[in-house]
Amino acid sequence: MAAYAKRHYGVDSATLHPKVIVLHFTAGDSAASAISTFSRDTAALGELPGTCAHYVVDYSGVAYQLVPTSVMCRHAIGLNHVAIGIEVVQPTNGHSSAWADQQILARTAQVGGLLALVRSLQHEYGIPTSMVYGHATANSCPLFRDLQGWRNDHTDWGAAAVTELRHRLDALP
Ligand SMILES: [Zn+2]
Repeated sequence: MAAYAKRHYGVDSATLHPKVIVLHFTAGDSAASAISTFSRDTAALGELPGTCAHYVVDYSGVAYQLVPTSVMCRHAIGLNHVAIGIEVVQPTNGHSSAWADQQILARTAQVGGLLALVRSLQHEYGIPTSMVYGHATANSCPLFRDLQGWRNDHTDWGAAAVTELRHRLDALP
């Protein structure tokens, strides 16, 4: 990961000081399958380490931590040097990403667990709600940076869903 950070961010370290949270959905139907995919450490876009995320949030709202938040993890081009990645279990089943985003937002237990996790990370690291992004909106983050000119082309967590989640974060007691 340190070698990736050097190539893409000019940072010779894999130590993470989180300033951003990026939301994803797995496009698979279980936490176990997501964890097993990440564990394979398969090259992505011709480079290692394989993609991963710090947390996976299951349908029940339970969050599994895969990587310490002090270590960078490869989940969103341009933001891995500053961002915690959270994967939410949600398949697309042939539907659009916008549909999948809405399934998560409608699943009370899961979105409740997600909100609690995001909120606790915001408190721990002083991350404002404006720095909670979706993979689909990651290119617009002011901290986006990639020395190789890479850009995200993923559509998980689009602008409408991110706006809704930010409203719900702001509404928490
Ligand atoms: Zn993603």
